[in-house]
Amino acid sequence: MGGLHIQYYIVCKRKLWLYSKNLGVELDSDRIVEGAILHDRAYRQIKERDIHIDNQLQIDAMDKHYVREVKNSSKMNQSDHWQLLYYLYELKKRGVEKKGLIQYTKERKNEEVELTQSDIERLEQMTKEIEGIIHQPHPPKLVKKRYCRNCAYYDFCFAGEESEE
Ligand code: SF4
Repeated sequence: MGGLHIQYYIVCKRKLWLYSKNLGVELDSDRIVEGAILHDRAYRQIKERDIHIDNQLQIDAMDKHYVREVKNSSKMNQSDHWQLLYYLYELKKRGVEKKGLIQYTKERKNEEVELTQSDIERLEQMTKEIEGIIHQPHPPKLVKKRYCRNCAYYDFCFAGEESEE
């Protein structure tokens, strides 16, 4: 279980299932390069960056007060928030308490994220539901979303079909 499971749970449960089965690759090479450039530019001044914890958390950067994530745009704002809350929650379990900060480069804005008790309860519920979804023998039913066209699983989901929009 990692941050991407939480993101995909919010975005699309079918995507979560496909990702958990290693069916296809989520990020294409352009997005990987774009992400690497974003991170490099955003956190040059921060010593602790690209932090990997227990093969579970992959944090962009951390300083005295904040766990920081940089995103290109706030289009997926809700899933970004829950991903960062999940990092804060996992760090808290390990005795590290911090706030989160998401930096949206396109909109040039920062959003502060703070973990509350009700977030913790929601995350515990989410992780149970995620376990249930990824252990299902079949993917959840296809539900078309605005996001589908930008999803790496688009061809898998819509093979032989012209998408409306
Ligand atoms: S293409 Fe749409 S339905 Fe299929 S996994 Fe992606 S977001 Fe979900």
